[in-house]
Amino acid sequence: MNVVLLGPPGAGKGTQGELLARSQGWVRLSTGDLLREAVRQGTSLGAEARRYMDAGELVPDEVILGMVREVLERPAAGYVFDGFPRTRPQAEALDGLLADLRRGIDAAVVVDVPDDVLVKRVSGRRSCGSCGAVYNIYYNPPATADVCDRCGNALVERADDSEATVRRRLDVYREQTEPLIDYYEKNGAPVAYVDGNRPVEAVQHSVRETLGL
Ligand code: ADP
Ligand code: AMP
Repeated sequence: MNVVLLGPPGAGKGTQGELLARSQGWVRLSTGDLLREAVRQGTSLGAEARRYMDAGELVPDEVILGMVREVLERPAAGYVFDGFPRTRPQAEALDGLLADLRRGIDAAVVVDVPDDVLVKRVSGRRSCGSCGAVYNIYYNPPATADVCDRCGNALVERADDSEATVRRRLDVYREQTEPLIDYYEKNGAPVAYVDGNRPVEAVQHSVRETLGL
């Protein structure tokens, strides 16, 4: 099954996508994670992407599609697309790539969370610089402040999680990504809405229910 998770920054796409992919044996494809890894490794793609990310803008479609193509070359039972597609050209390109594999998008799940909660979630987000585990100082703190429960390494704040950048990312979401809800509705992929302003487990339960899992 191939599922697209849609929702503004901080809605919990990564959190839900990780749980869903792990329980189903699918691959979670987060273009944000791939970009941050490129930035960490200091590749030229990472250096180019960083300028856009730090400003809260979208990285150009060609850069994103190049990365996605590489991942889709490795066959998987299912994909959870998290933070991708974010523009109409990306959505069209994904449909083309999946059609080549004789597959398609089975469902789009929109995770809804009010703006004030999003800003608080994003400002409290901390992630492990080593294993990538995600925490929240308000809602899901690690046992020891700034230390990863899973691997013991230091937690870091994302460079683009400052309040001003988050506001820009929200605007970009509304302008460029939210219209994809309409795109999937018109293209026949079932679109489901899930109330993301609830505890992680309750949201996950609804995500699975809407997918019939
Ligand atoms: P996204 O991938 O949509 O940007 P994340 O999954 O990274 O969102 O979640 C954003 C922040 O909110 C993280 O710090 C995460 O721990 C926290 N979070 C995620 N889901 C919930 C939830 N249901 N309730 C409270 N906090 C949450
Ligand atoms: P995310 O981790 O999904 O919140 O993404 C963090 C940042 O990476 C975004 O604000 C964009 O700058 C960039 N990014 C991630 N995915 C994409 C994408 N599919 N298209 C364009 N830019 C992206």
